[in-house]
Amino acid sequence: MPIEPGVIEVEFIGIGVGRGIAIGPVAWMSPPPPEPSVAPSALRTEEELERARAAAAEVARELRRRAEAAEGTTGEVLEAQALMLEDPAVHASVAEHAARGQTAERAVFEAFDGYRELLSGMGGYLAERAADLADVAQRVIAVLSGAPAPGIPDPGHPFVLVANDLAPADTATLDLGRVLAVVTLEGGPTSHTAILAREKSLVAIVGADAAGLVEGETVIVDAARGRIVRDPSGDEIAAASARKAELEAEAMAPIAPGRLADGTPVPLLANLGDPAGAEEAVRLGAEGVGLFRTEFLFLGSDVEPSGTVQQEAYERLLAAFPGKKVVVRVLDAGADKPLAFLGVRHEENPALGLRGIRALRRAEPMLRGQLDALAVAASRTQARLEVMAPMVATVEEAAWFSALAHEAGLPVAGIMVEVPAAALLAKRLLTAVEFASIGTNDLTQYTMAADRLLGDAAELQDPWHPAVLGLVGAVGEAGAELDKPVGICGEAAADPLLAVVLVGLGATSLSMAPSALAGVRARLLRYSAAQARTIAEAALGADGAASARSAAESAADAFG
Ligand code: PEP
Ligand code: MG
Repeated sequence: MPIEPGVIEVEFIGIGVGRGIAIGPVAWMSPPPPEPSVAPSALRTEEELERARAAAAEVARELRRRAEAAEGTTGEVLEAQALMLEDPAVHASVAEHAARGQTAERAVFEAFDGYRELLSGMGGYLAERAADLADVAQRVIAVLSGAPAPGIPDPGHPFVLVANDLAPADTATLDLGRVLAVVTLEGGPTSHTAILAREKSLVAIVGADAAGLVEGETVIVDAARGRIVRDPSGDEIAAASARKAELEAEAMAPIAPGRLADGTPVPLLANLGDPAGAEEAVRLGAEGVGLFRTEFLFLGSDVEPSGTVQQEAYERLLAAFPGKKVVVRVLDAGADKPLAFLGVRHEENPALGLRGIRALRRAEPMLRGQLDALAVAASRTQARLEVMAPMVATVEEAAWFSALAHEAGLPVAGIMVEVPAAALLAKRLLTAVEFASIGTNDLTQYTMAADRLLGDAAELQDPWHPAVLGLVGAVGEAGAELDKPVGICGEAAADPLLAVVLVGLGATSLSMAPSALAGVRARLLRYSAAQARTIAEAALGADGAASARSAAESAADAFG
């Protein structure tokens, strides 16, 4: 990447995911080669065909080499890609295009494109394979034209991957032994890359202003500070290595239930979107589930999932937590999580439209079906199931949901507090239900009027803002008065110091991506309940998000 003389940046800033830190050389994700020209070939057809055959064989060999080194599904995907290159029908199509005088590059492009369109039209699983086919074609074209192989680079040593953005397939095939960190120029705090990075405990910074990073240069990627430091000094490397060792020690610390220094319990729970993540959550010490996002199970469905399909998924989840609390959120569709089968029409402002419980009120039979499926799953397992409704804004909505859950035989029903109105009337809403759980992602979005998906508004999307903390405090107070639990299940709970503040504001449990549990567990242990309150008051008294964090840091430092 070219750098203008005289303006060499020493640091790049972005949105850090988690608190990890990594040091290593930059390797850029190679862009796909440009579309081959349609100009006729100067070679004979046979010669072009031979070039295509040799390039395809080279790519197949390389894919097999990587398949052998990879594990599980990744290996299978790579092997399937190698097989595509040996398909006689594909070879015949390439030959046909070459016979029309096209170059090997163009013939490969056209032949694969034809198959890609065919697969895309078939929908479902086959349509997903279309992307693999396009990837294979680009690899062959890259070999033919002498360009670097597109996709994840393989410099032969561990590296910091820098990309404009990562496709889901790229993220899924990342070799975590080699990729020390990921930096993307696109993406916000809740983007796909950020969510996957969090799930895989990858050090990552998204939405980074880092186009100036140069291939091979050494950088420190500090997710906690959202900074990429280039050409670091010896002192900076030593500090980063010490921080890395500290995080590793935290991760290795014995797993015990969450509590404060004075013994006050603060159950630490997991946020999950797929029962497949349950085992890892338990391994990392989750004391239950504080948020299971059911809509994630059905984002790809055109039709309402049957009761049996739902029961099976819920049973799998609940079975992993015998005797433990599992809070399942009913479908939270709308805005960034559209569910085709809910039939919400186009809206100008989907985040302010028929989201969450509003959509469910118009689809009551569907909600009843979901609650029934949950009740059946609960009856077959030993978990303590609780259900909650998303995006509740009024007392009436809270009472309606609670009545339906109780009718379905589910005695513990709660609401998510994600809308300022719900926080401001928390006591009245909480009277209608058994518990509240604060969704700080949406509560921040709606309090600050800052779209959570918009990278440009990321600065305002900060749960440290005292306006957000004030609302959390209001809900905490209402919970204490009514003696009802108030959990936190937004990303804020994963920030160790903010977790202390949230507890100081009255949160009785914290739920987060399982990879964040160790850091929060370690930090809570350092303060008593009274100290947590003092730290929270320091943050509440600040004028903005950044000063709230520094005020909390200073207050916390005073307690050692
Ligand atoms: C939230 O809004 O904080 C939350 C936990 O829900 P989601 O991120 O799924 O909207
Ligand atoms: Mg939400």
